[in-house]
Amino acid sequence: MKAIIVGAGIAGLVAARQLGLAGWDVEVLEKSPAPRPDGYMMDFFGPGVEASERIGLYPRLAAVAYHVKAVEYVNADLRPTASLDYDQFARIAGEKVLSLLRPDMERAAFAALEDVPTGRIRVRYGAQLSGAWADDDGASVAVGSSAEALPTADLLIGADGVHSGVRANVFGLEENYLHSLGMRAAAFIVTDPGLNSRFRNRFVLTDTLDRMAGLYSLRTDQVAAFLVYRDTDGGTRERQPHGTRERLRSEFSGLGDAVDRLLELCPEHPYDDVVAQVVMPAWHRGRAVLIGDACGAVSLLAGQGGSLAIAGSALLGDLVGPVDSAAGIGPALAEFERRWRPVVEAAQAAGRRAASSFLPANRLQRVLRRWIIRATHLPGIDRLVARQIVGRIAK
Ligand SMILES: Cc1cc2nc3c(=O)[nH]c(=O)nc-3n(C[C@H](O)[C@H](O)[C@H](O)COP(=O)(O)OP(=O)(O)OC[C@H]3O[C@@H](n4cnc5c(N)ncnc54)[C@H](O)[C@@H]3O)c2cc1C
Repeated sequence: MKAIIVGAGIAGLVAARQLGLAGWDVEVLEKSPAPRPDGYMMDFFGPGVEASERIGLYPRLAAVAYHVKAVEYVNADLRPTASLDYDQFARIAGEKVLSLLRPDMERAAFAALEDVPTGRIRVRYGAQLSGAWADDDGASVAVGSSAEALPTADLLIGADGVHSGVRANVFGLEENYLHSLGMRAAAFIVTDPGLNSRFRNRFVLTDTLDRMAGLYSLRTDQVAAFLVYRDTDGGTRERQPHGTRERLRSEFSGLGDAVDRLLELCPEHPYDDVVAQVVMPAWHRGRAVLIGDACGAVSLLAGQGGSLAIAGSALLGDLVGPVDSAAGIGPALAEFERRWRPVVEAAQAAGRRAASSFLPANRLQRVLRRWIIRATHLPGIDRLVARQIVGRIAK
């Protein structure tokens, strides 16, 4: 059996490994010329933890995790206005929480492909999808400017993220499925030993109105940052490349010298995209299926996208891996969606709930957020807050 997977993000790499271990031949197509070095710090908790333990990926993730002591909202002088210590967050989020840099997470998933016998998985970097077709008899794709489709596969898996090309080609236009949550997020990594030394082991978030900068010191002299701000462009996709850095500098000026320094060092074309969820009536059509953000992005507000990507891909591997004839694929995909959709929908609902308070619009809302965070220290309240922060943590 042969699968083509589009996207070598966390979802695509885990699906490739699980299918490869089950004996499938897998071709992974990734548009980036090499593993993507850019990224942001991610909390890894919930269903992905259990799934990664089950498939043997967890030790590789734990080996590259950062030890965060506390998440702190801070004022312009970096003094805490409210804080949640990580042990407490771990307790309310389901015991195990890892802090992982997105590229480290992908590198760990890539390294785990070595568990599969040589030759069964081929990852092609610099291979951008330009067309995809799927019906009940098979699926194929075209890459780059070539008009020619690759040989037909038994299964096409779209693991190509929020702006999935497989989805656009096989399921329909992005605007039918992408729902903006009214914000944009930018992320980038800068090198500055001075900045790095100012908040070691603390995940620092600015306690600001209508925008928020999050900073974390890496092991090297680097600082990973993400910036979230209100979307005034009506949910459009990417910004004009030349305007992003300037827009961020004007949106985030006046938040203190740490943020000023960060913006000084901001690369010219940082990641900057709409904060959105993907909601679709069906995740599979013919011999094509979508996984990860491509079919069920929950957004950074739910804080579980990477975790769900791993757990969903592991489940797909469990259900599709043993299939050894074309006739078995459709039922396996239907079962995958039946079992996985409720988990994704619960996380999406949590993300939408978080959207209303993620960026306080006035001082009252900001004070309320501080109180809520302080209240997590009270027994019983922590569970309520957890439900708001992470939704139902599924098994
Ligand atoms: C700022 C920010 C903070 C976040 N924080 C967290 C967090 O704390 N915890 C958490 O769990 N999640 C978090 N997330 C969400 C998480 O990053 C995503 O849910 C997760 O990365 C989804 O993985 P994926 O493999 O489905 O998609 P992606 O990571 O988007 O990977 C898709 C891959 O497909 C490739 N691709 C795209 N189009 C094509 C094409 N046409 N041809 C070939 N290849 C293509 C891309 O280059 C990419 O490598 C955050 C997201 C953001 C933006």
